[in-house]
Amino acid sequence: MEHRFTYLQTCPVYFGEGSAAEAGAKMQALGCRSVLLVCDKNGAKFGLADRVRAGFRDTGITLVQFDDVSPDPADTMVDHCARIARDACLEGVVGVGGGSVLDTAKAVSVLLRNEGSVRDHMKPNLPPNPGAPLILIPTTAGTGSEVTNVGVITHTGKNLKIGVECQATLAILDPTLTYSVPPEVTAETAMDALAHAAECVTGTVANPHADTLALEAIRTILDCLPRAVADGGDAEARRGLCLASSLAGIAFSETMVHVGHAMSQGMGARLHISHGAGCALCLPAALEYTAPAVPGQLAKVAAALGLGVEEGTAPEGLGRRVADFLCAFMDRVGIRSLRERGFTREAVVACAEAAMEDFLVDYCPTPVTLENVREMYRRIYGYERKGTDNP
Ligand code: NAD
Repeated sequence: MEHRFTYLQTCPVYFGEGSAAEAGAKMQALGCRSVLLVCDKNGAKFGLADRVRAGFRDTGITLVQFDDVSPDPADTMVDHCARIARDACLEGVVGVGGGSVLDTAKAVSVLLRNEGSVRDHMKPNLPPNPGAPLILIPTTAGTGSEVTNVGVITHTGKNLKIGVECQATLAILDPTLTYSVPPEVTAETAMDALAHAAECVTGTVANPHADTLALEAIRTILDCLPRAVADGGDAEARRGLCLASSLAGIAFSETMVHVGHAMSQGMGARLHISHGAGCALCLPAALEYTAPAVPGQLAKVAAALGLGVEEGTAPEGLGRRVADFLCAFMDRVGIRSLRERGFTREAVVACAEAAMEDFLVDYCPTPVTLENVREMYRRIYGYERKGTDNP
């Protein structure tokens, strides 16, 4: 590894139970007199948006709510939402929701300060002006979008998810907003964060600062996820997952993720599997694939997972060990297999071309070929749930 790197500190993070109620005061301090509140149907249904709205009551800020965000946010939906904000001359944006909502809020904040449609600002283009003041409040613990420097939007013309560069002015992490997340979404989103962390440590541009955050995120998820799934009301476990997902988000903003995420995006585009589930299922094969190139970095991941690896273990053995452990962990927290989700092996393997189109493959330390990706998809198709308790 080359010993040259950049520390990237993203936005300030305000963390704590009940902190969402302070979004109004924080927006007031940013000088905004009118704000778009972005959420989705569940944000409205579970009262999450209401808890944020309550904090605006005495601020004099005009609040307009948009609660129609769909998963894997489409460019057309983002443009529609931005039109509402532009027509009302709104000055700031608050996003309260999972990654789909936060990314929509990011893109709308860009469109409030830049002309055109969201497609005009997708990478490799960069928005000429910074976005409008933006507060992001996650209600899932996984994507880390509240602290990353990109919003991921679906380009419906190309059927690809593409980033729009943008970061929040402030992230508010209130773990109590995640208490209503059902067990399966809790597991999938937390595995997304674990994949961010593990791919960050094993990627081509890993660095010690990001490693420190990512390895702590892995240890925390390992401890907290089984508890959060078994007992959704465990406040300490929910707090740990929120913190871990933001640490992993900061870490991978510096280093990127690699082939596991590229494969997940490939399945997302073709099969519409949820982002977290795709990242979880691809992770074991992706890490095993990196073992010969970065055995030292993978050993750090193994240690964070609590795996004792004997000195002198060959990289291939280490890779196998990590992959087997992750499959058992997924089994324990209830990640359903691709077969259980109704996909055929052929349909999964056919996602390889889409995965290869993703620039993230370039961050994998072992060069990636189309045939290698097909082989990895075949392997992940072999994952089955057995109901194991203890990985
Ligand atoms: P999501 O936002 O699509 O939410 C998943 C489901 O959980 C939805 O049905 C949602 O309504 C529901 N939900 C959210 N919070 C809830 C709560 N508190 N209680 C009950 N239900 C709740 O899923 P996600 O995994 O959070 O986000 C995925 C999106 O994030 C993808 O589009 C992915 O590409 C993107 N992403 C972005 C970044 C980034 O850096 N910007 C990083 C990773 C992923």
